[in-house]
Amino acid sequence: MRRLQPVFDGHLEVVVTVAVTLSLACLLAASLITSPYAVAPVVALLGCAAAVHVGHLVRPKARLRRAAAIGLRRGEFHVVYQPIVDMRTRHCVGVEALLRWGHPKFGVGGPGLFIGELEGTRLLSALTCFVLREANIALTQLPFPQHWHISVNICARHLMEDRFVDDICESAGPILERLVLELTERSCVERTPRVVTALAQLKQRDVRLSLDDFGTGFSNFDLLADFRFDYVKVDRRFLAMRGEARSQFLKSVAALVHTHGAKVVVEGVENAAEHDVLQHSGIDLAQGYWFGKPMAVDQLRAFAWASINT
Ligand code: C2E
Ligand code: MG
Ligand code: MG
Repeated sequence: MRRLQPVFDGHLEVVVTVAVTLSLACLLAASLITSPYAVAPVVALLGCAAAVHVGHLVRPKARLRRAAAIGLRRGEFHVVYQPIVDMRTRHCVGVEALLRWGHPKFGVGGPGLFIGELEGTRLLSALTCFVLREANIALTQLPFPQHWHISVNICARHLMEDRFVDDICESAGPILERLVLELTERSCVERTPRVVTALAQLKQRDVRLSLDDFGTGFSNFDLLADFRFDYVKVDRRFLAMRGEARSQFLKSVAALVHTHGAKVVVEGVENAAEHDVLQHSGIDLAQGYWFGKPMAVDQLRAFAWASINT
């Protein structure tokens, strides 16, 4: 299957190898067909060309960022939506918007292939605005149930920027009051006065906040108290725990999170056995392939209709 991966490594190595090989072949041809005096400038020229080419290519991060910036301008990105379900009623209560990149050459790739490389760049903030605008267009056209929320992932660097609150409000438009911002624990958030003020301003406008990938990164328990999260999302890796330990762990996390006035969401529920464990662990909401995979807007429309009519 064609993947975005080649943008980073396989493709890079191949292109470097081809560039060097072609340069050497040209050099050989040139030395055969020209006089000895003409070989020196040809060598110099080919050497420079190869150096520029290789120098450019050995910076895969920069290359990927440039490709993503072009991709955003050319409309190569799109958004898919995954349902989030209430464990008690088993009804959908919201969706998470997830970014996809449809590269014209390498096919569709998930964020695991590019988000890490874009972390800490202004481009990722621009992508968040794109996701919000897309969600806004899609969900205002859908028969979007009134009680559903829409979760959008944000990055720490964006949260720390001056423009953060304006970016969110302008891009989200009418879906602002249904918005849940998911802040991943994998990036470190500085609790500066600006960040605290930005979150307080959004809270005043009914925007909710979720701590994503709980248990995997920089978070400590202060973070829970400082930022008044509405949801805490437990990473799917904890579902892989065996036996009693798994349900004990989930019960403890649920108790801790509830004391902070937040709800617990468990991510990555894939089968009935995992679903059963959650039912007896005090978990509020769940998300995973068992309930529904990330879907394009057309499928979401059908899903929303079915939810309204059941
Ligand atoms: P996340 O926010 O924790 O999103 C959940 C990820 O788990 C998604 O991967 C989803 O497709 C996947 N998932 C859901 N249910 C299951 C399941 O049952 N089994 C398994 N194995 N996986 C499941 P995805 O879409 O590849 O996104 C990966 C991460 O990339 C996200 O993790 C989020 O941190 C980041 N991301 C996605 N979209 C955006 C975005 O628009 N902006 C930013 N900053 N980050 C994003
Ligand atoms: Mg998330
Ligand atoms: Mg997560």
